[in-house]
Amino acid sequence: MDAARPSAEVVVIDGPRIRAVGERAVADQFPMARRIDLDGRTLVPGLIDAHNHLSITALHPRWHDTTGLDDPADLVSAIREQARAEPDVEWVRLRGWDDTWPFAPTRHELDAAGIDRPVILVHATLHQCVVSSAGLDELGIGRSAEDPPGGEIVHAPGGAPTGLLVERAWSEAHARSLAAYADPERWGENIAAHARSLWRDGITAVHDAACSPAAEQTYRSLAARRQLPVSVLALPHPAALLTNDHTARLEGPPTGEGDARFRVGPMKLFADGGVAIALDTMVGGHPIHHGLLMDDLERCAFDAIERDFRIAVHAIGNTGVDHAIGVFEAAQRRFGERDHRFRIEHAGVTGPEHWRRLAQLGVFAVVQPGFVEHVGIQSGGVRFDEHHWLAFAGLAEAGVQLAASSDEPCAPVAPLWCATKAAIRTTSTGISLEPDQAVDLETWLHAYTAGAALAGGQEDERGRLIPGLLADLAILDLTSDPPQVLETWSGGRRVYPAEEA
Ligand SMILES: [Zn+2]
Repeated sequence: MDAARPSAEVVVIDGPRIRAVGERAVADQFPMARRIDLDGRTLVPGLIDAHNHLSITALHPRWHDTTGLDDPADLVSAIREQARAEPDVEWVRLRGWDDTWPFAPTRHELDAAGIDRPVILVHATLHQCVVSSAGLDELGIGRSAEDPPGGEIVHAPGGAPTGLLVERAWSEAHARSLAAYADPERWGENIAAHARSLWRDGITAVHDAACSPAAEQTYRSLAARRQLPVSVLALPHPAALLTNDHTARLEGPPTGEGDARFRVGPMKLFADGGVAIALDTMVGGHPIHHGLLMDDLERCAFDAIERDFRIAVHAIGNTGVDHAIGVFEAAQRRFGERDHRFRIEHAGVTGPEHWRRLAQLGVFAVVQPGFVEHVGIQSGGVRFDEHHWLAFAGLAEAGVQLAASSDEPCAPVAPLWCATKAAIRTTSTGISLEPDQAVDLETWLHAYTAGAALAGGQEDERGRLIPGLLADLAILDLTSDPPQVLETWSGGRRVYPAEEA
């Protein structure tokens, strides 16, 4: 991943860092070193997942998984089971609802469980939920409730809310249903356990793409005790997910504060929705208008940059991407040509004009190769007339730097699985999603290492095999189909597979 030396035969590590890299003769300079023959396997820097919701996924073992549920009666028993499993939390929370369910859940199905606490069923995207009647009461949402800016409270024809809260209408419900899990001790254990599981996929660092103040506190205390198994770059975000109001956090440590184990990254902001992605485009000559734009983006971005934060902006639909680019351009005019290192998270639907402007601004596109699977299935492979889904090749060829990521838990995490999807652009169901937007595996490995490190401002500590950087390593078998992670090393120590006792 070092442009000056694209490949090497020998890597020497000394303690937690890389000492030397070069051809075979380099090994002779270190006669005392223990030698490990890679025997034709491929050594790359430890993989960096540049958009991962580790602090949320870590809680998954504590929430009933309703994935694939197809009967309202099963939902009732799932809710009762969750309520029994977590008797002390104020909100009974379940996960795994998605658009493959054959019925659209409402508060009535949740109420049918007869639980005396609020119940919340969270959509797999983390961009909407359904809450029970008790939950609506708790949130003060009644018949006359109006939509918040950037959100939608869905009402039945008679006027009563159905319980479905879309985008920023669910932000507060997320915060309240998470509050009981903010005990740093137990949450820390959950985070450490999930972080260790990432080693199997070659991951040694993640960017937590929406890190609440309580999650940040938990990471800091884990890192201080040296119990954080992967490096975390936290993208600060309010507890109320999807909101852009960072007022309380602006006074805290800015982007860059911390060390290689835990560091503050850019502020996470939103330009559009995640289910209500902002689209204005055409398919087969038919116009499509959809979604929600977040009109507080510019003000909140400026507030963050003024306080020495960089910014990372979620934008999926093409008008969402327009909105984000407009704010980047305005920020550059206002704050000058400093090292903004702007990030656009997702860049889901774009065209040549977006690619040109993003390249010109030096924006990093933090993209998700694994999205080819669910976007391919949901879109059926249908093309827009002038825009493209997940335009990895278009972005890369225009000169936009790619950083790769999973968006776990919203999509599968394994980098090699994701990269393979985006290299072949075919879903498991056989749908081909714009194959001309394919990018090869080597480009993805770069995006998961050097690209992700640059997007995180971590290029002096990780992401390449050069002397002085951390000896975070992954050993891959690229000859198997699919390619596999054989070993993962963190700070000069093999962590996967675990050493024998
Ligand atoms: Zn995300």
